[in-house]
Amino acid sequence: MVNHRGSQFANLIKKASEQLKAFFQTQNQVMILSSSGTGGLEAAVVNTLSPGDKVLAVSIGSFGDRFGSIAETCGAEVVPLAYEWGQAADPADVCQALAQDPAIKAVLVTHNETSTGITNPLEEIAKVVREADRLILVDGVSSLGAIPLDTDGWGLDVVVTGSQKGWMVPPGLAFVTVSERGWKANESAKMPRFYFDLARHRDMISNGQTPWTPTVSIFFGLDVALDRMAEEGLERIFARHARLSQMVRDGVKALGLELYAADERFASATVTAVKCPEEIKVAALRSLLEKEYDVILAGGQGKLSDKIFRIGHLGLVEEDDISHALTALEGALTQLGYTVPAQR
Ligand code: PLP
Repeated sequence: MVNHRGSQFANLIKKASEQLKAFFQTQNQVMILSSSGTGGLEAAVVNTLSPGDKVLAVSIGSFGDRFGSIAETCGAEVVPLAYEWGQAADPADVCQALAQDPAIKAVLVTHNETSTGITNPLEEIAKVVREADRLILVDGVSSLGAIPLDTDGWGLDVVVTGSQKGWMVPPGLAFVTVSERGWKANESAKMPRFYFDLARHRDMISNGQTPWTPTVSIFFGLDVALDRMAEEGLERIFARHARLSQMVRDGVKALGLELYAADERFASATVTAVKCPEEIKVAALRSLLEKEYDVILAGGQGKLSDKIFRIGHLGLVEEDDISHALTALEGALTQLGYTVPAQR
């Protein structure tokens, strides 16, 4: 390790936070917290709201539910706007909910719902939130750095992501940015905060420090990853994720499988959820893939645990990885008694 109050660390964190601005597409400061993504989401809530504030919690899956729970736990009055899993949120519903209740101060929304493999139309949702002049707090944990997200252009107030997703580094860091409107709200926000007090983080990062001891080792990986991402460039990163996700969707459909997404237009470019054939147990499929093919797929979460499996394709992935995963999937399914359709 290096001294986290020394110049080497100061250079690392200053460089990373500057580079992150380009990926967040913001001119504002990006804070780096030593926590997983959930800590970043808690920071978004407690730094902009006061106990009793009303928030609209848009949820299309388990991470949307979690964002709402964080707000509720921290004392907000949560108005849920929940959708059937597999669907995306409709900006018209958000518009209507805000028009009906002028007391709603902020909207919580997940950009990419990892549990269901759906990407919300965030730009359109942000537009109606801006028009209604409320705050919009965004969970970009599994989207940022892989799927277009224009923080300043779309007028997002707090955006959060986590190091283990598109950033290709180990878990342990959350990146958070706050708009001018967000900082204004911060001045009167009364929810208790200490470790996640973003104003303290903002004030120290320009000197290359964090208020508390950071997870120093992860910064070394982040430095390499951000250089690599800068070299590839934002547009090419987005295009690669779009291309690979299409390859996954085409591949699973060719195996006769059905996507979980109700409308493929909203299918995620970072994770694909697939309905598991009824005769096959998700756990058996995953275990066979891991043991014999060296491929790790995720299962479903909560009520989807034995209904879907998920293929992650974000960060360090290329065509070869997807081809290998699809071939392995075909092999494992066949071993488990599934018949792949002849017409392909
Ligand atoms: N939000 C989304 C969309 C996620 O995918 C995750 C984790 O997978 C989280 C929040 C929670 O992040 P963490 O597990 O890093 O706390």
